[in-house]
Amino acid sequence: GSTLEIKDLHVEIEGLEILKGVNLTIKGGEFHAIMGPNGTGKSTLASAIMGHPKYEVTQGQILLDGEDVLEMEVDERAQAGLFLAMQYPSEVSGVTTSDFLRTAINAHREEGDEIQLMPFIKEMDKTLDFLEIDKNMAQRYLNEGFSGGEKKRNEILQLMMLKPAIAILDEIDSGLDIDALKVVANGINEMRSDSFGCLMITHYQRLLEYITPDHVHVMMQGRVVKSGGPELAQRLEAEGYEWIKEELGIED
Ligand code: ADP
Ligand code: MG
Ligand code: MG
Repeated sequence: GSTLEIKDLHVEIEGLEILKGVNLTIKGGEFHAIMGPNGTGKSTLASAIMGHPKYEVTQGQILLDGEDVLEMEVDERAQAGLFLAMQYPSEVSGVTTSDFLRTAINAHREEGDEIQLMPFIKEMDKTLDFLEIDKNMAQRYLNEGFSGGEKKRNEILQLMMLKPAIAILDEIDSGLDIDALKVVANGINEMRSDSFGCLMITHYQRLLEYITPDHVHVMMQGRVVKSGGPELAQRLEAEGYEWIKEELGIED
């Protein structure tokens, strides 16, 4: 499996420092969850890892198997094995889900080793069934006119088809009803293997009732301030974040 190392990461948006020294290591085979109040920089972390141009890294390192991710272009990061599912996936006009996926899979492969149409269709049909997605959706333009729940399922479809080394899932649970949440969780659980590491960003503990994380981290004011096991998520759900602030002497 791969290892993603985030070391003392500082990130600014339009000159304002949002991340103030984040440290985190995610290895193949591990599921991590980041929780934290709104506005603490969770999505900023995800965007910085994937190289969103608005997010300026001013200090620190991001390494994938020792390679400097910050030196890579956005598409190179994906090719290196990083995957981001976003809180608000954008629409891609004129490209069907099916075409998008086949192109993305082949972008990871050497020339001459591209996935052939029939095996691709077979695997996609199997995955569509697993995620209880209507087969017609694969022929629709990516995310165009998709409901919130359809977009989330589509992102898990992408995850399962692309099989990245490390996935970052930003609020993949938001806006899902319980049935859709279970399907999405099944998909992520299906990915569990030594060659897959996952960082789930979530505001609520609900997702973690269906996917048991190995490590839970709390982010506050641009830093990871506390880490623990699944029990930490349960305590946050029951007691909120105040006790952590008191424990660590964090002022609002
Ligand atoms: P979280 O995901 O934890 O809710 P975010 O990373 O979205 O937090 O936001 C952290 C802080 O950065 C917030 O104060 C937010 O207003 C600010 N911020 C996030 N994205 C942008 C942006 N594109 N432009 C300006 N400020 C932003
Ligand atoms: Mg937010
Ligand atoms: Mg967010």
